[in-house]
This record gives sequence, C-alpha cells and structure tokens, in this order.
Amino acid sequence: MLLRHTPKEITERKALVINPAKTCQPIGAMYAALGIHGCLPHSHGAQGCCAYHRSALTRHYKEPISASTSSFTEGASVFGGHSNLLQAINNIFTVYEPEVIAIHTTCLSETIGDDLKQIRTKAQKEGKIPAGKYVFGASTPSYVGSHVTGFSNMVKAMTEFAESTGKKNGKVNIIPGWVEPADMEEIKRMAKLTGVKSILFPDTSGVLNTPLTGEYKMFPDGGTTVAELKSTGDSVGTLALGEWCSADAAIELDKKNKVPCKVLDMPFGLKATDRFVDALRKIAGVTVSDELALERGQLVDMISDMHEYFYHKKVALVGDPDQLIAMTEFLVSIDICPVHIITGTPGKKFEKRIREITRDMPFEVNVKAKGDMFLLHQWIKNDPVDLLMGNTYCKYIARDEDVPLVRWGFPILDRQGHQYFPTVGYKGGLRLLEKILAALLDRKDRDDPEIKFELIL
Ligand code: SF4
Repeated sequence: MLLRHTPKEITERKALVINPAKTCQPIGAMYAALGIHGCLPHSHGAQGCCAYHRSALTRHYKEPISASTSSFTEGASVFGGHSNLLQAINNIFTVYEPEVIAIHTTCLSETIGDDLKQIRTKAQKEGKIPAGKYVFGASTPSYVGSHVTGFSNMVKAMTEFAESTGKKNGKVNIIPGWVEPADMEEIKRMAKLTGVKSILFPDTSGVLNTPLTGEYKMFPDGGTTVAELKSTGDSVGTLALGEWCSADAAIELDKKNKVPCKVLDMPFGLKATDRFVDALRKIAGVTVSDELALERGQLVDMISDMHEYFYHKKVALVGDPDQLIAMTEFLVSIDICPVHIITGTPGKKFEKRIREITRDMPFEVNVKAKGDMFLLHQWIKNDPVDLLMGNTYCKYIARDEDVPLVRWGFPILDRQGHQYFPTVGYKGGLRLLEKILAALLDRKDRDDPEIKFELIL
C-alpha cells in the first residue's frame, strides 16, 4: 500500500504535479545523441544533472552510458559556463577522441542564457575542434516539455549535418522516434525487406544492445555515421515516425534541404504498421514482400486466436504521446478498451487524437496530456481496470489496486531484456499480444476457484 494516501475524490489541480509521467529533456537528448556513431553526449550544466541522465538511461538499457559534463560550480552558475564548455571540448577530444560531441543544455545553463552556437564558434576559432571532428547541440531546458521534447530537439539538431549536393542518393530517411534499439533494427529490416534503401537516424541499435565480448568499447560499432547524416540532405524523402519525436526534424530537412517528408504514427500494432509498410512500398514502387505479408498474416491469426480473452477488457495506459497514440489504436482494433490514458508530455493535439481513435468504444475515455500518475491512480480507483500498461513507476499503482501490469515504454527499471525484443512492426505486434494475454491469463489462473482452474485456456 505504498500509494495508500491517494484519495478517490478528484480535486482540480493546476499548479501541482504528483508522481510525474515524464522526466527531463536532457535524458531524451542524451538517448538521441547515442544514436550517432562515435558520439559522446555532453551535458552543459552541473555534474548532478549529467549523473542523473546517465543513470536513468543505464538503468533502462542495462548498458554503460558514456557522457561528459561542463561541471558547473558556483562561478559558472553566476557568470556563465562558456569557459567550462571550451575547456570540456578540448579535454574530450584530447582524452576520449569521439567523432562527434553532442551538447545539450540543462535548466541551469538555459537560465543563465549560455549560447551554444556562439561557444562552438569560439571553440572552432581557438582550434579546439580537430579537423574531421564535429560539435553540435540542442537547447533542452527541462522546465519546458519533457524527455520527449529533448529527444525531438536533439534529432532536429542532427539535420544541421544534412548537405544537398544536387544529386539524389536514392535513399529514404527514416526517423524512428524514441523506440528501443531492437525496434530500430526491426524498422531497418522492414525497409530492407521492402527494397527501400534507408538512412535511419538516430540509430541506437548496435550501441545499446551490444554483445558481451570481454572488450569494452567506449564508442560501439552501431549508430548513424556522420557521412550518413550528411547524406540525408540528398535523400528522396523522409518518413518521420511519431509527431512528437520525429516530425520537427523531418520538417526541418524539408525546409532546409527540400527533402519531402511524411509524418506517420509509430508502427505499433496492425494498422499503424500497415501504414508504414504502405508508405515504404509506395516509395519503392513495389508490392509488399512475401516475408512481410507472411508476418502480417501471423499477427492477424494471433489476434483472432486471442480475441475472446481481449473482448472489452479495460486498460489504463501511461507513456509518451507517439507510443500511446499507436498503442491505443492497436488496443481498440482488437476490442480492448483503453479507458484511462495519461501522458506527462504537453500537447492538446494528443487528447484530440485519442478521442478520435476511441470514439466508437463502448466506454468513455479519460485522457490527459500534461497529466500525472496520481490522477491516473485516482481514475483507476473510480473506474477499475483489468490491466495497466506503462513504465516501471506503474508498479506501485498496480500493487495497490491489484491490477496486472504490462511493462512498456520508458523507463523500465525492474525488468531486463526489453532492448532486445522489438514491439514495432508485425513481429513486435506478436510480442505485445503475447505479453498482454500472459498478464490477463496469469491473473485469471490466480483468481479462478479450483473448479475453474483449467489446464487448457
Ligand atoms: S536540473 Fe533540470 S536538467 Fe538538471 S536533472 Fe533537474 S530537471 Fe534535469
């Protein structure tokens, strides 16, 4: 009963967040930066911020997260951190030799008003950036938006590398959004199966799901290379997966390099994956490959096999907007009813989109952007659910309300292996269904009286 003080009665709150359903911008920026090959993320602020961002990512991905910090003390906090950053750039290239430094700001450096571009220009003039190496950055004040905003800002900053040579490269840029390394692999695999040559950025596969070889590599083999990022300006188009995470970067490439873009939902579940595959197919001018058609058929088969257990089950969801939109659509399509949906990330469009997706559901939906998990808990107390889906912080609500929990989203701190199994695409849909059904049937087995405790379900 860890959350026993959560009252059932809901009081309107405007200036108080309890149990936030989000974390800070630089965590997203750091994750995105790790998707560039040979990149060291750099936190322009105090050591504590950097330690927190690194530990949040390490705890989720179970991999060492390398990142550096401008290490602000009282002096930098008052007079600005430009000299700390100049020194840091020099030290990083001298000691760690990354290809790229990706700088994100913090609440402190944003409040002081440090200008990253100006500091970088100074570092260049002073010869602190070696030839063939790169420094870029994004503004990520954590008192605005969430970790999703930070991710999006850093991905948008990556478009700075894009060059237009006037000769198209025949490739398609795919911006995957904040998904697991295995999801990034799966998106590349699906593009390949459709015959589309793609540049995926950022790409944390091969960075945060690396094998144990006995040899430590500060910069693993994976990640989008700078050459690939440069080439994004010559691509024939961009597919941005997720409006919150990926659209800004795609629109920027369109404006800057005239690379036309299409913003799609993240490919979770049958319909969103269909739209992604269709977009790939149209670009390649081909029909859907036999392999993908087979995987789709398997997902449809599993949906029909499991449907009797899903019908009109009530679910509460918490997560990030792009994931929640696609997941809500998937659940509604298999007759599961998401009745309470919370994201900590702001954006009124989110609520509108969820209401559209759930409009034919037999139950009314509670949905809130910029909401918190305290409110989610209150909604569940007032209208109980059969299942809760979300990050590890949901386990307190799940325990208090005795509801099964499917861990999904970020962060997952108390389970392992999620970075190795995709949940996007048709294959990912199979995994999601398996996890959802297992949670529902485990609960049924636990609760059934002996007379109804069956070997075969
Ligand atoms: S001070 Fe700001 S940037 Fe630093 S950890 Fe806290 S919220 Fe994040």
